[in-house]
Amino acid sequence: MASGKDATYNINNFCDYIRTSFSEFLKLQPTLHRDEVHRILHEPAIIRYYRPTNQPWRYYLISLFQIHNETVNVWTHLIGFIILWWIMGELSAEYDVWTEIHSWPMLVFGLCCVISTMTSACVHLLHSRSVYHHYSLFMIDYVGATVYSFGSGIQAFYACSDKATYEYVGSNYLPLLTFMSWLNFIVLCLSKLLFGHNPCDVRRKLMMIAMMTIQAALVTLPFGPRYFRCYVSDTCSLSSLNHLTISWIFFASCAFFFGSHLPEKLYPGKCDVLGQGHQIFHVVSVVNQIWQFHSMRLDLSSGASDHTDPDIVIIMVAFSVLLTVDIVSYVLLKKLIPSFAKEEKQS
Ligand SMILES: [Zn+2]
Repeated sequence: MASGKDATYNINNFCDYIRTSFSEFLKLQPTLHRDEVHRILHEPAIIRYYRPTNQPWRYYLISLFQIHNETVNVWTHLIGFIILWWIMGELSAEYDVWTEIHSWPMLVFGLCCVISTMTSACVHLLHSRSVYHHYSLFMIDYVGATVYSFGSGIQAFYACSDKATYEYVGSNYLPLLTFMSWLNFIVLCLSKLLFGHNPCDVRRKLMMIAMMTIQAALVTLPFGPRYFRCYVSDTCSLSSLNHLTISWIFFASCAFFFGSHLPEKLYPGKCDVLGQGHQIFHVVSVVNQIWQFHSMRLDLSSGASDHTDPDIVIIMVAFSVLLTVDIVSYVLLKKLIPSFAKEEKQS
């Protein structure tokens, strides 16, 4: 009769057998220590669970079901993508999107959110293929990031803006937002291309955060004066703007976790799979996007966005211009990918 020790041994053997068979079936490779992968692929304070480079694309696609240091980054935005699509479906059932003009900013914002979450999930899934693909795919991630900042500007201007500011800024806001979103893309790409060879270089993060701060100011501009007007009014309570304040706190939290690499810098090697600052940034950004939808609905139902007059054709033209200049810039900037990364790709 088998002893308890033998039974445990057999169960462990059986688990190992299942895991190995599963890995072999999916053609999964064991993950690596950071010393075994190129320095470009290193993330601050992440020590293990890197995927090997130069595997077939199939390997990176299937690694969606493997535990590695990007698994949670992929799934957080993949789940976010599904939730945001579901919200878009609810929206089209709630509003007549053909005739209700105030639902259009929500549609455009939702489109921007699903594009940014999907590109991010794909980039985190595939970028480890080589140093060259790491550079080129993260530049695509920045297309998604600038599309999202464009969507946030649309939300701020057409759904949550201050009436006097909306009338004062008028038709200048959309071209300015489009131009600044494109500039944001250029700065994000250059910061990666110039300083991306050293993942711990603070200049890269400073460039990114400086540009994001300017973009955040542009997005805040349309609704910011509502605080002042409410403060000086006898009939307005600042708590009526809590939905905008909470969104701002989410934005600030995103910037903090994106730039700080906390908590992993405090516990090197302990957050290799779960608990990275970037994962928290992903989760908070999705929660914020859901909250931004909520804010638009609130302002629409309270009549706070009645003064706006969104034109879906003009907004979509601006959106198409942004996408086009982003893609053209991407093709041109790809030439600046460091030569060692191109050589590695060719070898
Ligand atoms: Zn990310």
